[in-house]
This record gives sequence, C-alpha cells and structure tokens, in this order.
Amino acid sequence: MKKPIELDWANLGFNYIKTDYRYISYWDKGEWDDGTLTEDNTVHISEGSTALHYGQTVFEGMKAYRAKDGSINLFRPEENAERMQRSCRRLMMPVIPTDIFIEAVKKVVKANEAYIPPYGTGGSLYLRPYMIGIGDNIGVKPASNYLFSIFCMPVGAYFKNGLVPTNFLVSDYDRAAGNGTGSSKVGGNYGGSLLPGSEAHKRNFGDAIYLDPITHTKIEEVGAANFFGITKDNQFVTPISPSILPSITKYSLLYLAKERLGLEVKEEDVFVDRLDRFAEAGACGTAAVITPIGGIQYKDNFHTFYSETETGPITKKLYKELTGIQYGEVKAPKGWIIKV
Ligand SMILES: *Cc1c(COP(=O)(O)O)cnc(C)c1O
Repeated sequence: MKKPIELDWANLGFNYIKTDYRYISYWDKGEWDDGTLTEDNTVHISEGSTALHYGQTVFEGMKAYRAKDGSINLFRPEENAERMQRSCRRLMMPVIPTDIFIEAVKKVVKANEAYIPPYGTGGSLYLRPYMIGIGDNIGVKPASNYLFSIFCMPVGAYFKNGLVPTNFLVSDYDRAAGNGTGSSKVGGNYGGSLLPGSEAHKRNFGDAIYLDPITHTKIEEVGAANFFGITKDNQFVTPISPSILPSITKYSLLYLAKERLGLEVKEEDVFVDRLDRFAEAGACGTAAVITPIGGIQYKDNFHTFYSETETGPITKKLYKELTGIQYGEVKAPKGWIIKV
C-alpha cells in the first residue's frame, strides 16, 4: 500500500485537485490507439472541435475507495462503462469497450494511489472519464476524431458534510426535453442547469429540483442527483421517466432497500403536490452519495420531510449499507466490488 500524500483529508470538498497522472486515448481512422498515462493536465484540440461548438461531449463520475482491509475498491464500474457507451451512441460517438474502460480506470487509480483518502476519513478518489469530439470541423455532424480521458482527484462530501439534511427549490426551468438527452450523461444537459442552480443557491437552497418537462407536476431530479422518498408505510419510491439520468447509486439503493432492509420498492410518478405521503426523502448519486432532503420549496409552499436538521432512520440505514459496501465493511452483492 502506497503511503498517502499530505492533505487535510477531513476537510476535502468537491474541488479540482491536480493529481499526477491521467489516462488519454485518441480515436483516429476508425480505431482507438493504445492509450497512455500522462502528467499533462491540459488538452490541445482543434478550434473546430465538435465538443466546443455542438456539445459532442459525454462524461462519467465514479469513485475508488480505500477499503477497511487496505485494498482499493471500485463500485460497479462496468455500469459506468455501459452507461457511457449509451451516452456515446446517443451523440454518435465511438464507444469504449467495457474491459478497456475498466483497465484504464485501474491504471489511473494505481498511478495516483497516494491521493486516495485513507480509510476512515470519509473521502474517496473521484474519477472523471470523459470523451469529446475533436479535429478540424465546422458543420453540424459527428467529429472524425475523438479523445477519451480519465482523470481523478480526492474528494469529500458533495453537499457540505455527509448526512446533513439540505433544502431544495423546485425550479421553473426544465433540465431536459421529454424525448431529449436527459437520460444520457452528456455535457449539454449541465450548461443549462447552471442558472437554475445558481438561483437556488442565491436563495440558500442546496440546488434546484427539476419537474418532468411535459406536465411540470412530477419530480425528476435533484440537481445532478436522483430523488427517492420513503413513504409513511415504508415503501422506497423513486421517480420513473425517460428524461431522468439513470443513477447507478439509485438502482443500488432500490436493490438494497428491498433485499437488505426488506422494504417494498417502487419506481413510479412522484407528484410534487403529494409530498406528504413521504416520511423521509433524499438525493442520491456518486458525488452526493445520499443527501437527506430536509425540505422542498415549491412555489409558496415549503414542505418539510423528516426534519431540517436530522436524518431519518431509514435514510441512515441505507447510507450505512451503501457506504459499508463501498468501504469493504459490509458484504457486497455479487459483482458489485471490483478490486484495483
Ligand atoms: C450522474 C448523475 C446522477 C447520479 O448518477 P450515479 O450513477 O448515481 O452517480 C444523477 N442525476 C444526474 C443528472 C447525473 O448527471
């Protein structure tokens, strides 16, 4: 086990930190090159790159964890590989095969091992795979060349400090179109979320909540995280819609709620004017992990769930089960943990 560098592990936020190595690979004439690790954290691309003008960019977000026994865990990385492939197909980009994706992730983690937050600090090594269309171009068409890269950095909690409830504001803006790119992790979905996010922050909310773009009556996303609620009769409920980004954390919680906590689980419409059916609610994602939702502001009404200051018992149990698996404290369902 490589000795960690000196960092204030307990106070890491979600900020860019330059680590030593990143993986980079180029697509040219219909194939990927062998890929290398480089110390250069800048990319040099043509001014005509489709990524710059037409949003031909996809990304992923995943983490490596220093486990209790000192080994390094990846959490369901083949799910990220496959989701990136779906995002790429949506934007007419070439795909990275799952085995190459996972090998590249492992190389980046190993090369930056000293940056993995020690076990017990609550931190992790965040990995950012991305692909962009590059090369000389001006028309609205798929690029001839592509760059695939994975970089990483140590991170702490995304929304302040771990399991502290956060309040959210229902936005008037839509995040994605009904039959658009909402279910793909593509750059274009996020530029448009900056303004609603900033309006929420200005009013002291953690982020914007987006309703479904067709009827504006159902909750879809909490910023860049998925929504879940626990009903008063102990059902785990999460919204279903073609414009939601299918969160790997969310599908993991659906499984754990059913198989480990014995809850009934449902993917169904979550009407924003019927929040009183929930005893607890949360936002989930790789970066957010589980962020308990204190309350939701919808027009002039503020709805409180369990409490604005304390986390409900089922949310706590889910958090413990999920993070226990990720840090190697709790037995993982088959295939969920891949060792680096
Ligand atoms: C990445 C992302 C999520 C969370 O997905 P995970 O696979 O759990 O990290 C949720 N919503 C949006 C909009 C996202 O971009």
